Amino acid sequence: MLPKPHSVKVAQTIPELDKILDPYRQKQQNVGFVPTMGALHEGHISLIKQAKAENEVVVCSIFVNPTQFNDPADLKRYPRPVEEDKQMLEAAGCDVLFLPTVEVMYPKGDFTTLNEDFGMLDKVMEGASRPGHFAGMITVVNKLLLAVKPINAYFGQKDFQQLAIVKHFIAKHVIPINIIGCPIVREPDGLAMSSRNRLLSPDERKRAVLISQTLFKVKEMWGKSSVADIKDFVQNEFVKDGYMKLDYFEISYSDTLQPFDGKRNAQAVACIAVFDGKVRLIDNILL
Ligand code: AMP
Repeated sequence: MLPKPHSVKVAQTIPELDKILDPYRQKQQNVGFVPTMGALHEGHISLIKQAKAENEVVVCSIFVNPTQFNDPADLKRYPRPVEEDKQMLEAAGCDVLFLPTVEVMYPKGDFTTLNEDFGMLDKVMEGASRPGHFAGMITVVNKLLLAVKPINAYFGQKDFQQLAIVKHFIAKHVIPINIIGCPIVREPDGLAMSSRNRLLSPDERKRAVLISQTLFKVKEMWGKSSVADIKDFVQNEFVKDGYMKLDYFEISYSDTLQPFDGKRNAQAVACIAVFDGKVRLIDNILL
């Protein structure tokens, strides 16, 4: 007889979630939390597995958060394969799937977002290119953390700026939750895994490998070429491609996310955003 697969309990409302989690909370057992927008891949699953290893119970949320999309077309086409996702969560041993509706997260159609000051962290890169994105993101992350009340919450370094902003928010408001950053999981050819990859045509998927290949070359050039020369190299790679459009490429300090000027002896990170047809992809590499 085949072993019975691990089953994931699904909660759609906060009372349903409490009903499942209260027994763990009462026993002071650790709740680990992985917030996602679904269309799960091995990148998400790596977060679930790390959470499994470090907590007694693991909650994954799937919620495509409307307030963090600055482009309505991007929100509309965002993939939502919920049944497939559930199966992946079961295979990974996830205990609870929190699957709230828009009405649960934004009652009475009130889409007000938090007016948080992130200092300079959100003035660059994704913050500059996607107005309102981080206000929407932090609003939903805050609501989800309040609902799940985890001790540990797991975020991918794939969204490097998001991770920095979440950590800043948690520290500033003295919220007693550990924010754990997890490494980027890549496809065998190097492309960073992303839910948006499934929106690429076969031709766009082939081209997309240039994004990570360029970052790997940047890492090789680091310390040998100037920031200006590295930026010219990256721009040129995408001009040569002729189809993909570079949205931005930045070399920044990994703590402040401000442009790297060599004046501080601190870790740098190269961050990139590219339009591959209609699909916008981001990636980064620590230097
Ligand atoms: P998303 O569903 O895209 O909002 O992502 C949910 C979480 O998974 C975020 O913390 C992401 O940074 C993380 N994540 C997405 N893609 C990857 C990846 N390729 N490797 C590691 N973490 C990832």
